[in-house]
Amino acid sequence: MCSPFRSLAPSLILTNLTILSLHFLGGLSLKQSNFLLCALGLQSQIATAHSEDSDLRPLPLQAHAIIDQMDLSPQYMSYACCPKCFHLYDLEGPYPAACTHRTASSSGFCGTTLCPTGSQKPLNQYDAYDFKVWLAQVYAQPEIEILLGQQAAALTKSQVMCDVWDSDAIRTLRGPDGKFFLNCPQGESHLVFSLNMGWFNPPTSKHSNKQVSFDVIYMTCLNLPTSLRYQPENVFLVGVIPGPHEYSTTQMNNLLCPFVQILTELWDTGLFLERTPKYLFGH
Ligand SMILES: [Zn+2]
Repeated sequence: MCSPFRSLAPSLILTNLTILSLHFLGGLSLKQSNFLLCALGLQSQIATAHSEDSDLRPLPLQAHAIIDQMDLSPQYMSYACCPKCFHLYDLEGPYPAACTHRTASSSGFCGTTLCPTGSQKPLNQYDAYDFKVWLAQVYAQPEIEILLGQQAAALTKSQVMCDVWDSDAIRTLRGPDGKFFLNCPQGESHLVFSLNMGWFNPPTSKHSNKQVSFDVIYMTCLNLPTSLRYQPENVFLVGVIPGPHEYSTTQMNNLLCPFVQILTELWDTGLFLERTPKYLFGH
């Protein structure tokens, strides 16, 4: 694969790597990254104002351009979300102007408007990250892949319960083939996740002593040691719950429906990764 930085001057490569590092590793927002990019661009222009170096090229104006160039943009699926019942409709396919969801076969349609008249954009959009892509990214970390394999083998022999992973419920869990789920064949990994919900307060959301919070759904992999389980790179963000009011069980079920379908598919057929650091011919 040809490096996207191959044709760039060393100074531009350094700038791009700085932006990528601060954004992905340092937590710099896209807005802040764009500001820094502009500042570095101006500095570069001033420094090279009298230079005759023809190789110098202007910096990208947006950090997103650098992220796209490196193919690091997150992959996610977008849905039109009913503002009332949170039923999701795939944005790629045709979806009705008003929600057609029924809470029960005997009840009527929800009927809530999904798109304003004359608009192609839904009133509410819900984005969900691609779980399979995230799993592949997790397995791209050599030390994590080794830990995931060791954890499943070691904990099945433990007699001391020190984590939820040691519980009988997980130890005696049987897979779709009827065998104990933890006894996976060589070259396979059987992962156990916990689905969690929690609220977060954005750092800049305080207005007149009022705090704005938003609820998120996330998953943690119980195969990982507790010291790594909640590291941001090892937590999967399932989605951000649409507000602004407290949600009901029905709304939550509708929101989770596409994700549960993906989990069901993985439970039934698993996921084959064409290449990982440990298994070069597929895992
Ligand atoms: Zn609805």
